[in-house]
Amino acid sequence: MSQVLPPVWTPELPDAPERHFCTDCGLSRTAKPKRCGQACQFIQPDYPALEARVHGRARRLPAPGEPGDDELFFGPHRQMLQASLKEPLAGAQWTGITTRIAQKLLETGEVDAVIAMAPHPDDPWRPLPVLVTRPEDMARCRGMRMGYAPLIALVEPALAMGHKRLAVIGIPCQIYALRAIQPELEREQGLEKLVVIGTPCSDNTTTERFHQFLALVSPRPQDVTYLEFRADYHVEIRMKGGAVRTIPFLQLPLSTLPPDFFPMTCRTCVDYTNVLSDITVGYMGGQGEQWLLVRNAQGQALLELLGDEVKTRAPGSAGARAGAVRGFLKNVERAAGGLPLRKMPNWLRPIVGWLMPRVGPRGLEFARARVEMKAVETVVHLRREAPARVKTMVPEHVVHLVRPYGLPRSSSEPS
Ligand SMILES: Cc1cc2nc3c(=O)[nH]c(=O)nc-3n(C[C@H](O)[C@H](O)[C@H](O)COP(=O)(O)OP(=O)(O)OC[C@H]3O[C@@H](n4cnc5c(N)ncnc54)[C@H](O)[C@@H]3O)c2cc1C
Ligand code: SF4
Ligand code: SF4
Repeated sequence: MSQVLPPVWTPELPDAPERHFCTDCGLSRTAKPKRCGQACQFIQPDYPALEARVHGRARRLPAPGEPGDDELFFGPHRQMLQASLKEPLAGAQWTGITTRIAQKLLETGEVDAVIAMAPHPDDPWRPLPVLVTRPEDMARCRGMRMGYAPLIALVEPALAMGHKRLAVIGIPCQIYALRAIQPELEREQGLEKLVVIGTPCSDNTTTERFHQFLALVSPRPQDVTYLEFRADYHVEIRMKGGAVRTIPFLQLPLSTLPPDFFPMTCRTCVDYTNVLSDITVGYMGGQGEQWLLVRNAQGQALLELLGDEVKTRAPGSAGARAGAVRGFLKNVERAAGGLPLRKMPNWLRPIVGWLMPRVGPRGLEFARARVEMKAVETVVHLRREAPARVKTMVPEHVVHLVRPYGLPRSSSEPS
């Protein structure tokens, strides 16, 4: 029998122990923090084994000399779609597909509770993990926050309260740990059903650092209510009162940010697209709409829950990514551990900024470019700053992704 609690609940948690490569996913704050050793994306991940357990098979990797299909880039999936809710939800990051799926799961009684991130009452940009039991309260979790918060620490308290059928919305490093401990949760804590709605994630940083960034892009950072790095190479910023501004990526004032603005975790993260979720809800391959990766039968059922509330179509793809990825690799190498700023005279930036959305990679090709850039970044940073981790942290799919750019996994390996 479920305990009676406020419909949106967050527990008191112990402080997180100091760990070097850690995004405070929440596992270290549980009663068994030693599980991090087997369950952490940054220690010794085993993506093929977890993909096989969750989806019935690991992602298809290319045969030697072959280029590889979209599974190499995006992980196991049954279908990819460009999608939008016909009636977008106010306050959502895009149209709110993530929120609506979770709401539907609660409305239909498919799950007892949803674990997601709400804005912190003291700072709307700071994520706060919450347990939601009423569909209408999912509205409080809409939108993107920047930062880390211990989402997975809520799973065991939720089970202890009697919520045995759970949905979790999370970013890849959180979902890796959750999937790694799933068999133990089923065996020892009565987990009956786990639904995972994942979002892609890249370039996250602490909420404090994110406020530094806001102060650079707006004279009124306290009034910024929304920010997104769009797939058309612009950052969109919305202000209290409704004003909207877009800034081309190339004109962002990034040169004054400290070189370690992005922590090593997010510079070396190997799972951009959240491959262990049942459904991934992102935007990168969506050409201005949302982008869905339906990964398994449960993910298919989640999409079907939306019925005709969602319109979908096949995603498009245009342009060629190789030049952009090669340029990015050069910048990462030149930055020697700092931010990969593009070397370019200031007068040229507006022109290139105008050209990029028109001739640069678009749709799925943009998503492939971003995945390759992330893989390149991972290998360059790890080789420079934590070479001993390369062997254990870099999975085979990343080796395949960086190979066309002449980047071996480690300096002792041939390219
Ligand atoms: C730090 C970060 C970086 C991202 N980068 C990319 C990217 O590069 N490419 C891409 O395609 N998509 C990225 N996303 C996902 C994207 O921003 C949208 O969240 C996603 O497309 C879903 O949109 P929606 O309208 O369906 O979400 P909504 O219905 O508005 O729901 C958003 C959900 O995100 C969760 N959430 C918000 N902030 C956090 C956080 N800090 N940590 C964990 N969960 C959170 C909430 O629980 C909420 O349920 C990123 C998300 C985050 C949090
Ligand atoms: S599993 Fe989570 S809490 Fe543990 S080290 Fe990894 S990110 Fe940190
Ligand atoms: S970029 Fe990777 S490591 Fe960083 S918060 Fe996102 S999923 Fe976690």
